[in-house]
Amino acid sequence: MIQNRNLNEIQKELNSGKLLLVDAVKYYLDKISSQKHLNVFISVFENDALTRAEEIQKKINSGTAGKLAGLVISVKDVITIKDKLHTCGSKILSNYTSVYNATVIERLISEDAIIIGKVNCDEFAMGSSNENSYFGAVLNPVDNSRVPGGSSGGSAVSVAADMCMVSLGSETGGSIRQPASFCGITGLKATYGRISRFGLTAFASSFDSIGIFGKNDYDIAAVLEVISGEDEYDSTSAKEKVPEFTVETGNNIKPGEIIFGYAKEYFEDGLNEEIKNGILKKIEFLKNKGFEVKEISLPHSKYVIQTYYILTSAEASSNLARYDGVRFGFKSENHSNLEEMYVNTRSEGFGAEVKRRIMLGTYVLSSGYYDAYYKKGQKMRRKITEDFENAFKEVDYIISPTTPTTAFKLGEKNDDPLAMYLNDIYTASVNLAAIPAISVPAGNDSNGLPFGIQIMGKKFDEAGLLKVSKLFI
Ligand code: GLN
Repeated sequence: MIQNRNLNEIQKELNSGKLLLVDAVKYYLDKISSQKHLNVFISVFENDALTRAEEIQKKINSGTAGKLAGLVISVKDVITIKDKLHTCGSKILSNYTSVYNATVIERLISEDAIIIGKVNCDEFAMGSSNENSYFGAVLNPVDNSRVPGGSSGGSAVSVAADMCMVSLGSETGGSIRQPASFCGITGLKATYGRISRFGLTAFASSFDSIGIFGKNDYDIAAVLEVISGEDEYDSTSAKEKVPEFTVETGNNIKPGEIIFGYAKEYFEDGLNEEIKNGILKKIEFLKNKGFEVKEISLPHSKYVIQTYYILTSAEASSNLARYDGVRFGFKSENHSNLEEMYVNTRSEGFGAEVKRRIMLGTYVLSSGYYDAYYKKGQKMRRKITEDFENAFKEVDYIISPTTPTTAFKLGEKNDDPLAMYLNDIYTASVNLAAIPAISVPAGNDSNGLPFGIQIMGKKFDEAGLLKVSKLFI
């Protein structure tokens, strides 16, 4: 019925009376309840969603519905929704209810989107497998013995397993593109500042951005158009004009209009052969269609992982200082003085990965090591950003694999944080340079596991990325 239709097609059916919105919502609620084993949702808003469907149906019937009427969306549990549980996948916030809506939520609601629930994720968005959640791992719908990727694993699976049309996730270093790649769907990380962060719980504030998972470019364009733009509650939100993404992405890109590049550093050791061949085939496909594709260099690529983990951990150690048992969430019962209360609340409330980042971050910011690590990391961030600035003088878009491997087995990398961090090798550079990128399905390996192709663009060229992504569908 509604499976694999884009919002435009759904809206036509709603307007003609062929489809009732309440039936669309029930379809997704059924998918959620029949696939509980995937452990995707932390909260399902069944009653709210059905009530909203009735209200919005009336608006559709009277021709007064908003731009997103008909859209059913899930939200990663790091984005606040008023009066709803807001856990960030952590024990420390497991009993915390938000008192306000994130700006993106306000904007979605005002255009009549229906939020069906909040989805699981790695604790405070730290991870690449969704195994770091206090609420347990999410399973990959393609192969239940494998991870869906992370940290927005719940978001990716909610879309891939047809529990909603679109999901909001968040990125600090690849948390939308990597799970999109592992689950065979599309994921967009917009330019830093394009989408307000107000109501997105901070992990590393100079990297964090909200982004969108979907099955087609139209749905992503429609949501992006609504949630983008300046926000008085986020001083880092960009003043840049927001294009009509749904209109702009309607046109197709033709050879001669743009130049593609691929960075030789992204095809070296560590990249799975099947993915490598799959992406090289896509490059051939573009050339055969008449597009110019050039080899370029991003010479500081080998420093991406170190730089990313030094800087994001530093910012995380500061951002997470607020969870101390005094103001929000969980508080340890086990204390006889104030200091013990702080220590035990944080020791019991945070999981192992979050503690690792807090310790690493505190270390790199400490007075004895600040110059050696944090300051050096900042300098390297500049170099990596310059690599992209130089590359974009020669080409319009850079294509690469999204991930070095397909989805790995649950538990496979739990004892080896470095192996886990290497998942971000092709994605974290984009967050360091604050540019936009998209991952689009590019094929399957011999086990049938999906992998994505990543397209990186110039700042604020999300419309171009969406147009280019259509070449690969
Ligand atoms: N895997 C990366 C990390 O653990 C990315 C996380 C993210 O983008 N939120 O930091």
